[in-house]
Amino acid sequence: MGTTLWIVDINVDGLWETPEIRQAANFLREGEVIAFPTETVYGLGANATDSEAVKKIFEAKGRPSDNPLIVHIADPKQINELVDEVTPIGKQLIEAFSPGPISFIFKKKEGVFSDLVTAGLDTVAIRIPEHPVAYALLKAAAVPVAAPSANRSGRPSPTSAQHVMDDLNGLIKGVIDGGETGYGLESTVVDCTGEVPVILRPGSITADEIKEVIGAVIVDPALKNETEAPRAPGMKYRHYAPDHPLYLVDGSLELLQSFVNQFKRDGKRVGVIATRENLAKIDADAMIVMGSETDLSSIAHSLYDSLRKSDVLDVDVLLSLCFPEEGVGQAIMNRLRKAAGNRVLTESDLFG
Ligand code: AMP
Ligand code: MG
Repeated sequence: MGTTLWIVDINVDGLWETPEIRQAANFLREGEVIAFPTETVYGLGANATDSEAVKKIFEAKGRPSDNPLIVHIADPKQINELVDEVTPIGKQLIEAFSPGPISFIFKKKEGVFSDLVTAGLDTVAIRIPEHPVAYALLKAAAVPVAAPSANRSGRPSPTSAQHVMDDLNGLIKGVIDGGETGYGLESTVVDCTGEVPVILRPGSITADEIKEVIGAVIVDPALKNETEAPRAPGMKYRHYAPDHPLYLVDGSLELLQSFVNQFKRDGKRVGVIATRENLAKIDADAMIVMGSETDLSSIAHSLYDSLRKSDVLDVDVLLSLCFPEEGVGQAIMNRLRKAAGNRVLTESDLFG
């Protein structure tokens, strides 16, 4: 299949009426899949009410069928046609954070979505993105759009149109290029079916911000404890993996250097992913920069790009320091642990 690349100016007025967006929206309505930028990462969209269309998402990504998709809409008012009941906490959170990088889980209305979207669950995740291209496409398509991240399953999520093309060129109908995404990590997923919101996947809207609105918040304990099954089915999979095995170092810059030296003594070539400030302080075979020490959101923004760039390095292993698990640091460490397959090194792992 030929993949069309539409390059759009995200600042034009009436974006939803431009020929590029109209053509992409028509493809969506005709049952094709289209990748588009959102404020989190690039999404791979299909009409959520059309099973044949949604099936193409799973095929293009190689995504396991038990992993449900998030449904995207342009206008919060549409939500009443899609879910059984917008709970009081759901209403408050939508008012506080939408449009934005957060997905809300409600009991679904029966008979609206393809069963593939919800993977057989009786709930559905809904998001109202704020990115101008996502908004324009959803408005022009005028159907709810199921959209996971636009990467091959298991790979780091795409934060640019080039990342999407690297993974899916020839497998999907088109990609709308609206530049680099802003936040760089997938949306916060919050179960709003009860009286207290439960974070099933951490993201750029943090637990503290949600707590400020509702007064209480629970973080799915399975996110930290590997023996429990997480409530978001997708969280159990290894994800975001770079080509070279990644190890996280829980400790100081000096400890990181000790592990670099240890791997080198073993005859391994070592790459290090580090913040701008730490780059010059480390002696390794190759280095990749990832954001700035002074701003966790800059690390979130460049995390997936840094992981993807590391694939071209001529190294045997990759190392990165852990980051503080406060604010968006929770989401950063959640993604890094998955990218590392939970390999975390501490001082006790050093030989002699
Ligand atoms: P992605 O589409 O790659 O951004 O992943 C969507 C995430 O949301 C996955 O971790 C899914 O398991 C999770 N998710 C989507 N719908 C539901 C739902 N109804 N209940 C629980 N988790 C969900
Ligand atoms: Mg994904």
